[in-house]
Amino acid sequence: MRIAVLKERAAGETRVSATPETVKKFKALGAEVAVEAGAGETASIADADFAAAGAEVTADAASGADIVLGVQGPDPALLGGVKPGAWIVAGLDPFGQRSRVDAYAAAGLEALAMEFMPRITRAQSMDILSSQSNLAGYKAVIEAANAYGRAFPMMMTAAGTISAAKCFVMGVGVAGLQAIATARRLGAQVSATDVRSATKEQILSLGAKPIFVETVAGIEGEGAGGYATEMSEEYQKAQAELVSSHIAKQDIVITTALIPGRAAPRLITDAQIASMKPGSVIFDLAVAQGGNVEGSKADELVVKHGVKIIGYANTPAKLPADASALFARNLYNFLSAFWDKEAGRPVLDEEIGNAIRLTQGGKVVNERLLG
Ligand code: NAD
Repeated sequence: MRIAVLKERAAGETRVSATPETVKKFKALGAEVAVEAGAGETASIADADFAAAGAEVTADAASGADIVLGVQGPDPALLGGVKPGAWIVAGLDPFGQRSRVDAYAAAGLEALAMEFMPRITRAQSMDILSSQSNLAGYKAVIEAANAYGRAFPMMMTAAGTISAAKCFVMGVGVAGLQAIATARRLGAQVSATDVRSATKEQILSLGAKPIFVETVAGIEGEGAGGYATEMSEEYQKAQAELVSSHIAKQDIVITTALIPGRAAPRLITDAQIASMKPGSVIFDLAVAQGGNVEGSKADELVVKHGVKIIGYANTPAKLPADASALFARNLYNFLSAFWDKEAGRPVLDEEIGNAIRLTQGGKVVNERLLG
């Protein structure tokens, strides 16, 4: 069993899909690990550290591989030397990179999309969306604080008092919860909203104030796998009114709202931005999925009506060492959970295998892509 770790090639990608820790653990399972030279450099992991953990560091890591690991899906052109039917285990962006998925199928590869991991208790430690969103939620607040020309905490000084920043978090999934916790730690007064009513208690338990549409029903309970769906026009209108009255009083807004497989919902319009105080900061974590904020641009600072709007195409890549460590553990936790000692390789079960498998036997096989 030969596992290959390739250097990421996507623009702005700084993470790596294995660390010396996970290399050691794969070796303990009996696998060989080949790491492409320089793969860990942008995540502060030297080739020598991979070698010391037992990896073969080489220019041609994919050659002879049974399993290829990646943060993002590798270019099929780089996979000429892998074994027939080799697994590609990475964040494959199946909806956004459909032609690449087709190319994996045509090459006879078995592509496993880690972002399709079901949100069930036993798969929590394998969930790349959670591990990366958590760090992204933290970083969004840190970046917003950095761009803000004032302080977050209330300060009483001899020269007078500085009041606490007011921070509003829109979308309270994994990233939003971490954004609330981070803004609270920095001393801001925090409020938050979501369409899923189950988040109300979570917001309260973090010491923040829930701001919810009460006139139109939102999503009760956890919904399908805990995800949101598109809301009715009536709900959207009520939400827009609620947000308009609240947002004008905010200094910092962090938006994290996503709907799987669709463009991100628009939560903040230009008119609402105009109602905010000059110097306020909005961080749009959904900017790469179409954006929650009108006019936000990935990796650019946009100033509208004196309000700074920021957002990165790839926020976890701004914390490459920690993001890689968690991502690599997600991949190890996944493969090791299914490791069959006799076969000397992982053997997937139906529930998880069918959820994440995109291609097999030359065809696209995943229901979500065929549907
Ligand atoms: P996500 O990234 O898909 O979306 C972020 C948030 O945006 C969600 O809370 C969503 O409800 C919200 N949202 C969508 N449309 C909105 C709108 N118009 N206005 C305001 N908010 C809107 O979500 P996520 O971080 O992946 O988490 C979704 C859920 O899955 C959570 O309940 C989380 O606890 C759960 N989860 C479960 C597991 C597990 O059991 N293995 C793992 C991770 C997350």
